Amino acid sequence: MKTDPFAMYGTNVFSESVMRERLSQDVFAAVKRAMDLGESLDPETADIVAAAIKDWAISKGATHYCHWFQPMTEVTAEKHNAFITPDDGGRAIAEFGGKQLIKGESDASSFPSGGLRATFEARGYTVWDVSSPMFVKENGDMISLYIPCAFCSQNGEILDKKTPLLRSIDALNKQALRVLRALGDKETARVVPAMGAEQEYFLVPLELAEKRLDLKLCGRTLFGELSAKGQDDLEDHYYGSIKESVATFMNEISSELWKLGVCVNAQHNEVAPAQFEIAPYFGSVNVATDQNQLIMDTLKRVAERHGFMCLLHEKPFKGLNGSGKHNNYSLITNTGENLFSPGSAMSENDRFMVFICAVLRAVDKYQGLLRSTVATAGNDHRLGGNEAPPAIISIFLGDTLMNAISDFIKSKTGKRSKRKALELSQSIQTLYLDTNDRNRTSPMAFTGNKFEFRMVGSAQSTSGPNFALNTMIAEVLSEFADKLEKSKDIHQTARDLAALTLKENGRIIFNGDNYSREWVEEAQKRGLLNLVSTPSALKELIAPEVQALFLKHGVLSEVELQARYDILLERYIKAVILEASTMKKMISRDIIPSVISYSGSLGSDITAIKKAGFEPSKAIKDTLQLMLDSIDSLTERVNRLSDMITEIKAIENNVEKADAVFGRLRPLMLQMRIESDKIEAVIDLDYWPIPTYTDLLFKYL
Ligand code: ADP
Ligand code: MG
Repeated sequence: MKTDPFAMYGTNVFSESVMRERLSQDVFAAVKRAMDLGESLDPETADIVAAAIKDWAISKGATHYCHWFQPMTEVTAEKHNAFITPDDGGRAIAEFGGKQLIKGESDASSFPSGGLRATFEARGYTVWDVSSPMFVKENGDMISLYIPCAFCSQNGEILDKKTPLLRSIDALNKQALRVLRALGDKETARVVPAMGAEQEYFLVPLELAEKRLDLKLCGRTLFGELSAKGQDDLEDHYYGSIKESVATFMNEISSELWKLGVCVNAQHNEVAPAQFEIAPYFGSVNVATDQNQLIMDTLKRVAERHGFMCLLHEKPFKGLNGSGKHNNYSLITNTGENLFSPGSAMSENDRFMVFICAVLRAVDKYQGLLRSTVATAGNDHRLGGNEAPPAIISIFLGDTLMNAISDFIKSKTGKRSKRKALELSQSIQTLYLDTNDRNRTSPMAFTGNKFEFRMVGSAQSTSGPNFALNTMIAEVLSEFADKLEKSKDIHQTARDLAALTLKENGRIIFNGDNYSREWVEEAQKRGLLNLVSTPSALKELIAPEVQALFLKHGVLSEVELQARYDILLERYIKAVILEASTMKKMISRDIIPSVISYSGSLGSDITAIKKAGFEPSKAIKDTLQLMLDSIDSLTERVNRLSDMITEIKAIENNVEKADAVFGRLRPLMLQMRIESDKIEAVIDLDYWPIPTYTDLLFKYL
């Protein structure tokens, strides 16, 4: 299929240019004010806008509209309503007014609420987010208008991932503007966090994947291992030439996403076999978060059309790299300036240094919070394995920027000459040349004009990490603004802030190898957190200083934060218990029966050999013994697993439950896996009941 990116780009988006065409100047101006300044639309204007949207959507073939929102799962939710209403004459007309556009009501009792919404008042509201564009999505034959929405309970408590993100964007804007004003900037009207998420994923043949209950239910393999060919033998895959079947799939992904105004522009093979990456051009973090959801959804949908199963899980295969979502983050002004870009004038250096230091200080002070935002059952397999950043948070700055910061601190106000300023800025400018000294092992790396936060899991919504980053940076900016606003010598104060940051928060900077054992020890000496499990990391989310942070900046109330913690903890428990139950089924229904059959066949072979007057070899007898032993031990373990699942399910307190899941259930599951993988390595594959890694992974190399 030939695709013309320029012709198709944004054709299914109700974009500003469509609005200009379809709305009068006054109405357009009102919508623009709502988008940029958060003003609300009056009911008449809302009706006019709704009518224009309806006509546009119907012209695109839409028969339905849906409020599209982000409950406390990692995916989106949608409820479709047809535009159709009966008229008095027994015919149907298309009706869609401002009310339907702005607010939807739904039975929300089945979405996670963490106790915020008693089930008897199960109403939830969805509210149009004007700042993220609407679009028409084709899903098979159903074509719908999608209205990006926030989601809250009847009492206004938030139940979703979008609202705190929107609130944090406002908080950050407010404090960043204070700092900019204090630094003498009178022009900038808004600062928006920008984000570009590089999405990793695996593709496996659908037909084979569906034969594995673990892939179907959990999105990852609970058994199996690469035997003959390992990842290290396969360095040719990374950036390797793309197989035609995958290229065709990628092509369709691009065209679907381009139509939706998602500007994906990078695709390539990743490190592991059958692993790939797709990245869009960055945008405002709210829209980029919505778009990342569209990317994940489109990958999954289109994959099936091409006979693939798309795995977004953080660790689908043992012994191979897992998948992450590198979260590139910067702060951009409405005048198009990147606040993490070193400027050429001295005053711009002040600005650059203040904003870089704000990130350093924020990430150090709130490292626990940031760690908690990437704590999921899937990511536990990844953080700390020698492939992804460890569980310890640190920042890579590189030598050039380190030197630039210390030069900046040392430079004296009185002696500041033009030449000196130039030298300083040049040393910063060389950052661009130096970014190839990139540190691939760092959880958060400064890459020239943005921070790349690499701990985010591939299946996660990008909302959590970003609303945490926004809020904690807002807090440090407010602290800096307090000092700068009172300052008589701005340059001196900027230098003092940089010096303070290095002194108090310099421990967060680490330019070395994050995978090394020495770093774990060194980080402990520095007092950095090393939270290796989801339950321990999640606790940081409800630390008193985190509660105070979100409350102060109007992002989450204490109750909302607690509800979030409860939901995340419960999701963790459910995810691991689902895996354990799946494992139980696969062991009892697939693996033990096949070991029994194989043992039977070995037994008959031995009898036949003896009958023919020969002595069976030691190897065949040993294999039979191994099979017989493992039937017993697997049976014993599967019973133990079953009892443990029942026991853990009965624990009422979720904190204790999660600890039991991590401390008891997971180790037993690991033992069972090791045992099963040992059998897989010796069994005649004709008897092995599920597709192997080799089957799943090597079709696309
Ligand atoms: P890599 O880290 O693979 O070299 P790129 O530089 O191509 O990646 O960018 C990776 C992602 O970062 C892309 O989605 C890109 O749009 C995004 N990105 C680039 N600049 C910025 C920025 N200033 N702020 C946020 N994201 C950005
Ligand atoms: Mg990258």
